[in-house]
Formats: sequence, structure tokens, C-alpha cells
Amino acid sequence: MRTRFRRQRIAAICILLGTGVAAQGAGREAWTQVRADAIRSHVEFLASDLLEGRAAASRGYDIAAAYVAAEFRQCGLTPAGPDSYYQTVPLLEATAVLPGSSAELVVDGGAHSFEYSTDYLPSADFMSASSTLSAPMTFAGYGIAAPELGHDDFANLDLQGRIAVIFSGAPANFPHNQRAYFSSSTTKYASLIEHGAVGVVIIDSPQDARRMPWERSVAMSWTPQMRWVDQSGKAQQTFEQLKLRFRFNDEAAARLFKGAEREFDSVRSNIEAATVPGFALPGLLTLSATTGLRRTESVNVIAVLPGSDPKLKHEYIVISAHLDHLGRGSAVNGDAIYNGAHDNAVGIGIMLEMARALNLSNARPRRSLIFAAVTAEEKGLLGSDYFAKQPPLPDGDRLVANINMDMPMLFTNTVDLIALGEEHSTLGAAARSAAASEGYRLSADPAPEEVSFIRSDQFSFIRQGIPAIVLGAGEQARDNRTDAAALKREYRAKHYHQPSDDLSLPMDFDAAAGLARVDLRLVLDIANAPTRPAWKQGDFFAGKFPPKALP
Ligand SMILES: [Zn+2]
Repeated sequence: MRTRFRRQRIAAICILLGTGVAAQGAGREAWTQVRADAIRSHVEFLASDLLEGRAAASRGYDIAAAYVAAEFRQCGLTPAGPDSYYQTVPLLEATAVLPGSSAELVVDGGAHSFEYSTDYLPSADFMSASSTLSAPMTFAGYGIAAPELGHDDFANLDLQGRIAVIFSGAPANFPHNQRAYFSSSTTKYASLIEHGAVGVVIIDSPQDARRMPWERSVAMSWTPQMRWVDQSGKAQQTFEQLKLRFRFNDEAAARLFKGAEREFDSVRSNIEAATVPGFALPGLLTLSATTGLRRTESVNVIAVLPGSDPKLKHEYIVISAHLDHLGRGSAVNGDAIYNGAHDNAVGIGIMLEMARALNLSNARPRRSLIFAAVTAEEKGLLGSDYFAKQPPLPDGDRLVANINMDMPMLFTNTVDLIALGEEHSTLGAAARSAAASEGYRLSADPAPEEVSFIRSDQFSFIRQGIPAIVLGAGEQARDNRTDAAALKREYRAKHYHQPSDDLSLPMDFDAAAGLARVDLRLVLDIANAPTRPAWKQGDFFAGKFPPKALP
């Protein structure tokens, strides 16, 4: 009797509290509901050692995905799939077996064997567990054909049946966007195949060597690679005609150029300033690789907030962040767990808090919203690519914009934000006004030459013709004794993709809440606007990846 009475009283209190919270939230603007501590709680869980670095297709990742799905349910969001928040991404994993590779040069009857890691790094081969390639070589500059920029590394060169020896990157005089586009391995490999090459040796350009020292590449070479697999079982983006793709460092590359019409040192010191015409290299190069292949899968976690407008609800704004990181790997200072707190547990934390705040406010924007926690970003934007190419939407519905969150670098609260991609579409002006409403100004990207705009999941949407933008911290700290730019530099140099990217590093959760508020205002603004976001007239990305015609 007493027990029952007490239960009833507790129930009554809960109902009172429940209505109290709802009354508090309803009617208030969503962004006023954002709490720094809520973001903190997500990051503390997702970046804990318990989740073992959330590598795609690992148990730690699956726990993180279950956590995100539970939060989506809690926030009243609808599953995107028929009965689940999960979109399964079929994957092929390829791990280069490092002692199982070799590289040998035979020239004038003499043979020279190169050493793994001292001289070269092998590629994983998605097509075969063991592969060998023997071919003559041709130096082909950067391996870029860009007639619109007056540059053609293939002019007067015959690459048929040959291994192309090229520098990474692109000429310094290319405008930033073009430089990024032509530097990407996807663009280069397609072009090399078109010109008949059967393999490639890549040498770091002087700029890439400065950014990523050889030792760092060797230390990262344990990471397995992945591709997503289509319904017929074919792995995407494998470039199988280009059988093997090895990286050589400068000393090893210099040996490939011995006896050629021009020495390596002269080529290397000129490559940044001028076009160096290609030429054949002497001898025959034999490359062999052993690859561990494994079919596996991982999930994107996708939720929907249906729009309120009968017509516009068929247009979806995608709010995305990658949930995966690097998992377990080689230990650094005794720590083998790559927690990825800044990259990108905090992006997910911000996204989840945006969903909670929206739910509390009962906001029903006119367009539909999709919340997408995507997998395998660290493997080459795979989860987002899979989702953007085949979104689980009803026929006739479509994606119209992407707001991505990745590594926002919230080491301290800043007075400014950086909006990657602001110059490309109408999302720029919308972001500027959302930021201003929260007391932030937008600063120009301090390193436009890095073209960070194509280095994360937003690029998967851009490739489908969908305008995208990414907001992150600026470089002017609110506390003028703190150097925000220096904190970012230190992170990039010492902690990026290292086990030390965990919560022992500073993370400012008030800054995270500020960013969540700005992103929320931006999302609601474009979701309620009469016209959907659009690329600017004549924009480079719109030209390369034309927007799909919409009904
Ligand atoms: Zn990231």
C-alpha cells in the first residue's frame, strides 16, 4: 500500500518535471537550449579509451554508433531506414603486409634492391592478395593534364605499359581550388590510366615533404585501407589498371633518375617554379606487394526531422559529422589508442546537442533535416560518399545542402569563426549572418593553399553537386593572453592523428556550445528560406560537379 502510494507520487513528480521541462523548452528558439555540458558528456564518452578509437568496422565504432542511435531516438528523430537508424556500408579492407613487399631496379645488368620504409612504402592492392609489376619507367611531372590552366605533363610522352614516376601535389601557380582538385589521387590516377600507365611511383613534392615528413608517413603505414563495395560486389575507386602504387623518398627516387637525361636534384629543385617536361628513365623496375584482404561492413547512423512544408519537406538539409577515427595502432609514448577527441568526437557531440535543442524547442523547419553520423571518413570519406550517392530517401526527395562538422579546433573560445567554402555558395552569406547573431565574425581561411574544403566529408556532397559549408574556430582568442593560432599549429604538428588527440588536450566546451548555436541558426535559416542554397555563378566546383537538375 505504502509502496504503491509512493510509486504514484514519484510518477506524479516525474510528470510535473516532464511538463516543466517541455514548457521551458517549447516556444523558445532552439539555439537558446544548447548546453556546453551536454556536448562535454558526449565527447567524454566517445573519446574514452573504452571505445578504442572508433575505427570503422571495429567493436569500438559499433558501440559509438549504438550510442548515437540511442541519442537520436531520445531526441524524437525518425530513423532514415525502414526500421533502423543504420545504413550499412559494405567494405573491402586491404592491409599492406609490410615485410611482404619488394622493389628492385635493374639497369645495365646491375640490380639494386630498395628497402621497405628506408626507401619506399608499398600500396595495398584491392584486387589481389599478391601482385607483381615489372615495367620501364617514365618521369611525368605531377601527372596532371589541365589544358585550361596551360599545363600538360603528358605532352609528347608515351606512358603505354610504363610505370609513371610523378611528384605529389600540383604546380604552385594553380589557383587554390584547381590545385586541390588536380592534386587529388583520384584525379591523377584516372588521368594516368587514360594515358596508358600500368603503375605509379609517387615522390613527395617539396611542399608535401615539409608538411608530412617521411618518418611520419612510415609511422602511419600500418593503417589498413578501405573501399566501399557495390551491390555486384565490386570495390569502388580501386583503379585496378594502375596495378601498384608505391611511394619513394628522395634518396630512392634519385637512384631511379641515375643515367637519365636530367638528374633528380635538378628536377626536384625546379618542379615548384616551372613545368619540367617528362622523359623516359633507364632500366626496369619490379614492384611486388602482399595485401591482406577482408570483406567487412560498418554503419552510417542516419536520422530525419521531417519538414513541415508540404512541398519543401521533400528537400533535405544534411547535418553531418564523422563518427570514426583511427582505432588502435602503433603505440606512441606507451599509448596505442587513437581517441580522436578533436577529430571528431566533438563534431558528433555538437551534432547530437543540436538535435536535442531542436527537439526541446519543438521547432519544425519547413525543409526536412537529416542528421548523419558517418563512418570511414578516415579511410577516404567512404561513409559519406556511400550516403551521398544512395541516400535512403523516398523517390523524388533529394539532398539540397550539407553542413559538415569536422575537427573544429575548439582549444579556446574565439571571437571569430572560419567557414570553409563560404566563397562558393549562398551558404556563405547565411553562415555570416548566423555567426553575427551569436556575436562572432567570420575570418578568412588562414591557409587557403591547404584547401581544407575538399579534405572532409563535405566533399562527398560537393561531388554530387550539393552546396556545402563547414564551420570551425577562428584564430583570435577571447582571452587576449591566449594565442589561438598557436594552439592550432601545435595540434597539427603534435597531436593530429596521434594517440594524444584525447581529452588531456584543452577543449573549450563553451566554444563548442557557441558553434552549435551558430550551426543551428544556420540550419534553421536555410531550412526555412524560400529558395534552397545554390552555388555561386561560375564557381569552380559547380563547374566540375554540376548540380543535378531538380524537378
Ligand atoms: Zn576528421
